[in-house]
Parts: sequence; C-alpha cells; structure tokens
Amino acid sequence: MGWGDCGKDSNGRPIGYVFDATCDHPDCMEQIDRGLTYVCGDMHGDDEYSCEKYFCDTHKNNYVTRNDGSDITVCNECWDRMIEDGELYYDEEEETLSHLTCAVVDMDRVNCPEPAKHLIPKTNDYLCDGCYEEYKKGAYR
Ligand SMILES: [Zn+2]
Ligand SMILES: [Zn+2]
Ligand SMILES: [Zn+2]
Repeated sequence: MGWGDCGKDSNGRPIGYVFDATCDHPDCMEQIDRGLTYVCGDMHGDDEYSCEKYFCDTHKNNYVTRNDGSDITVCNECWDRMIEDGELYYDEEEETLSHLTCAVVDMDRVNCPEPAKHLIPKTNDYLCDGCYEEYKKGAYR
C-alpha cells in the first residue's frame, strides 16, 4: 500500500504508480503508469497549471515556472491553454512559461509588482493594465 494506490480520478480510473496505463495524449500508445512521474504537473488531480491526466515523457515536456518559482512539466494541452489565457508568457532564454510582472520601474527603482498583460512591441516590454493606460497617455517615452 502507501502511495502506490492513490484512489481514482474524476473519470473513475485508478491512479497511483502501481497502475499501468498508456499515455493520455491522443493516439500515443506509450506504456506508463499513473504515478507522479507521469502526471501532468506534479500532483494527482488538476490545479491552475495542470490537468489530472498522465503522459509519457514526450507529451509532458513543457516547463512552467510557478508563482513560487518552482518548475513543473505539463502536457501540451495545458501548455496551450495557459498561453491562450495570457497569464503566463514564454521565456525563450529559460525555455519555460513564467508569470510575468510589469516592466515599469518607479523613481525608487522598485519594479511594479502587477501582473503584466500588454506587450509594447517597440521595446518588447510587458506592462500591467494600469501602466499600460499611462503608456497610452504618453508616459514612459
Ligand atoms: Zn495537462
Ligand atoms: Zn505520449
Ligand atoms: Zn505596472
């Protein structure tokens, strides 16, 4: 017993590393088990970053840096969803999806802590809602 058997997911499938399964990616027949090694994210069940499905290495090879700075890997579907939501951005240097904060720095050199939502193509900076409004009015030029 112990962590090998973790009960069932919301579709009634047994979960835990003692249960053999195939990758949940459509048409992928890769043999996996339903343990934490293969779960989307790092825990059974879903959360704001990941779903409750299980994938082979190839199909959960997308790095996401969470709010607390820790990294997880998620499936392709979750990755696409997060990019679409626009809450996270792709950091090419780190090759990870990250939460982004506003690029504006005030006179005391303190970074604006608001989540960034708007890309300024000219400078490649992301601004939060408030700073973006200021930017449109002509600030920061
Ligand atoms: Zn997923
Ligand atoms: Zn797969
Ligand atoms: Zn801001």
